[in-house]
Amino acid sequence: MPHFKVAIVGAGPAGYFAAQALQNLANEEQSFSIDMIERLPTPWGLVRSGVAPDHPKIKTVSKVFEKIANQENFRLFANVEVGSEITINQLKSKYDAVIIATGSSLGKKLGIPGEDLRGSLSAAVFVPWYNAHPDFVGVDTPLDADTAVVVGAGNVAMDVARMLALEPSELDPTDTAEHAIDAFKSSNIRKVYISARRGPEHAAFTSPELRELPKLEHTNVVINKEDIKAAILRAGAEPEKDVKSNLDAMLLIAENPKSEHERTMEFLFQHTPKEILGTDRVEGVVYSTPHGDVTIKCGLVITAIGYQAQGIDGVPYENGKVVNTDGRVEENLYVVGWAKRG
Ligand SMILES: Cc1cc2nc3c(=O)[nH]c(=O)nc-3n(C[C@H](O)[C@H](O)[C@H](O)COP(=O)(O)OP(=O)(O)OC[C@H]3O[C@@H](n4cnc5c(N)ncnc54)[C@H](O)[C@@H]3O)c2cc1C
Repeated sequence: MPHFKVAIVGAGPAGYFAAQALQNLANEEQSFSIDMIERLPTPWGLVRSGVAPDHPKIKTVSKVFEKIANQENFRLFANVEVGSEITINQLKSKYDAVIIATGSSLGKKLGIPGEDLRGSLSAAVFVPWYNAHPDFVGVDTPLDADTAVVVGAGNVAMDVARMLALEPSELDPTDTAEHAIDAFKSSNIRKVYISARRGPEHAAFTSPELRELPKLEHTNVVINKEDIKAAILRAGAEPEKDVKSNLDAMLLIAENPKSEHERTMEFLFQHTPKEILGTDRVEGVVYSTPHGDVTIKCGLVITAIGYQAQGIDGVPYENGKVVNTDGRVEENLYVVGWAKRG
């Protein structure tokens, strides 16, 4: 009976589900042994260091990972970085197949002036900082100004904005890093803008996450009703299901009566960042809008506009993704997950 030795590089969700797919293929005619190699001391990738700590339910997928890891012929080698401690070519020569599942850990840049100022950070740095990723413990996250801006129209941007706008004691029972809880507790930020380049009908938020927002106990969530009404008109009589569901959720927020909380999270649509202002550190963002340029004063800008993969020697990359055809890279090399899709 043929027995295949497979190396999976990266212990995030894509790596575990690739392992599960192989385990499901095992039968009387073929068997597999799987070695998973992870650069960090702990597994689970962004389920540990990305997914928002105030949404612990999502992290319960780790139970599935534990089940996969408990199967026969599965081994995890943690604290081993492929590319520096062992090369892809060494793995390719020792295993029948090598699967790259290393994710996308670099934040895309806006490419505008001021992006390198102190207080301008990518979500790819800020998120692992509050999630206790060992590489990001010492990140400089100035939270002393009263206003922060999050640039992006997806769930990562929404997670970041929510973490900044929450009453920090709500994080006490979560597994948010202690250093981040302390920093949020002494933060002066009371107003958080989340800005999208296009209209609400194009936003990549998902409606379950939007529907959670009015449940925040200590934060006003503000969406301009006129923005949503205009988006509903633009979306036409038969918008796609997801678009309709998002617009319904946003309308609900827009119609929600405002309360007197001192913390506010406000959505801005059709705001394209042109420049981050400041001399030594961030002092504001200039946006181009359909009504002319608008400047928002703030001391922190977090960009959440997408991720790209970090390169590994011996693996071909293009546009922040591993070059592949349906997951096949070359001979016995494959790619899955964010490293494949970006
Ligand atoms: C802020 C945020 C919130 C999210 N929230 C949700 C959510 O609520 N629901 C949802 O379904 N999805 C969510 N996602 C998306 C989800 O996290 C990703 O879809 C998923 O983690 C991608 O899996 P992956 O295995 O490809 O990459 P990753 O999870 O990034 O795992 C890659 C692993 O590879 C390891 N690695 C990297 N380089 C090497 C190397 N050279 N050698 C060895 N190991 C290496 C890394 O340390 C990491 O453990 C969120 C993402 C972010 C950033």
